[in-house]
Amino acid sequence: MTEAPDLATPIVGWRVWLMGWDEDGPTLVSPVAPFTWLPRVAATAGCRAGCTQAPTWDCHCGLYATADLRLVAPMVISAGAILGCAALWGRVVEATDGWRGERGYPLVLFAPTVDGRDRRRRDLALAFARTRSLRLPGSRPADLPVAASTAALGRRYAVPAHPLPAVPRPAVWESDVARRATEVREEAARGLGARRLGDRDADARFARTVGAMLAALQGG
Ligand SMILES: [Zn+2]
Repeated sequence: MTEAPDLATPIVGWRVWLMGWDEDGPTLVSPVAPFTWLPRVAATAGCRAGCTQAPTWDCHCGLYATADLRLVAPMVISAGAILGCAALWGRVVEATDGWRGERGYPLVLFAPTVDGRDRRRRDLALAFARTRSLRLPGSRPADLPVAASTAALGRRYAVPAHPLPAVPRPAVWESDVARRATEVREEAARGLGARRLGDRDADARFARTVGAMLAALQGG
């Protein structure tokens, strides 16, 4: 078995989380495992199959992210999952549709606001979120994000967090959005070091690409 490469420069990809909750507020929870990405701490991959250092090539472990927004869009549309760009670094393995990394942290978050009038969609999303977040230690079942919890997520994780004005229909994701999403992902990676050093211009460049993507998602 070949060793996974150890990346000094993070890779940035799209992924989703469900919203969890602990005594201090909302948290980001993996949609596939009972695992919380803690605020202001790099998430570290573990492996339930027994890899001593996740991820490995021949396993499914690691923190996931993809370059293709369309692969994660269905989770946002149907399950009210929180969309975001995450940096992955440390050991990073190329997976079928993206990457699996050893360490990760979100760089920007987008939380869907489910229209309360669309009862069926709302009930489906809630049922999904609750099923997935059951029995998380120290966590109560996730609710769907609302504007207040989206802002709280941003403050807790110290990253920009934006409400998605509505749950966008699949067709919207195809058009201009894919191109705008690529720009967000690329700028998230390109300006990462400068933003961390307090470079306001880098913050503004990133905010502009995010704004353009949000406008595209609204069909603007
Ligand atoms: Zn493994």
